[in-house]
Amino acid sequence: MKVKDKEFISYLSEGEIQNKIKGLANQINKDYKETKPLFIAILNGSFMFASDLLKEINLDCEISFMKLSSYEEMNSTGTVRELIGLTENVFKRNVIIIEDIVDTGNTMKNVLEQFKDRGVKSVEVVSLLIKPEAVVNDIEIKYIGFEIPNKFVVGYGLDYDGFGRNTKAIYQLKS
Ligand code: 5GP
Repeated sequence: MKVKDKEFISYLSEGEIQNKIKGLANQINKDYKETKPLFIAILNGSFMFASDLLKEINLDCEISFMKLSSYEEMNSTGTVRELIGLTENVFKRNVIIIEDIVDTGNTMKNVLEQFKDRGVKSVEVVSLLIKPEAVVNDIEIKYIGFEIPNKFVVGYGLDYDGFGRNTKAIYQLKS
């Protein structure tokens, strides 16, 4: 697949992604039984994952969104810009943050810091993808879909310079 000037090869199929999401949702349904969690999806990249995950969640729950940006084209800039902040009252809530991919972990560290001193009951993270070799922050991601190598991926919500989000599968940069 070509996105702008770059070639990408198939990496995770629609079936693999959907199976994994069912597994993650089963786990969350079990762990949060009898609670009413508040999901917070991190835009833009997690919009497809959040949508498919929520369809498999059978708990009484709410969803809200935060919009952050740390990536330019194919590199983490190190600074996380907040474009839409946390507007929800999270006091005494069980919060589950939905992320598309954890790379350096800068974004997640920044997000998790925002929940400090807000009196949340609990806060956990579900990330579809994680690049263990790239993570530089000491953060705990409780629910992980796939551990992937430190290579750039697009599709299923993830972009290359704004494009390539609109696919059912995930593609890896051709090296
Ligand atoms: P971090 O702050 O952990 O370094 O990066 C997290 C954010 O960077 C993700 O939410 C995502 O927007 C972007 N990102 C990190 N790795 C990739 C990648 O391989 N492909 C794409 N499209 N975005 C990525």
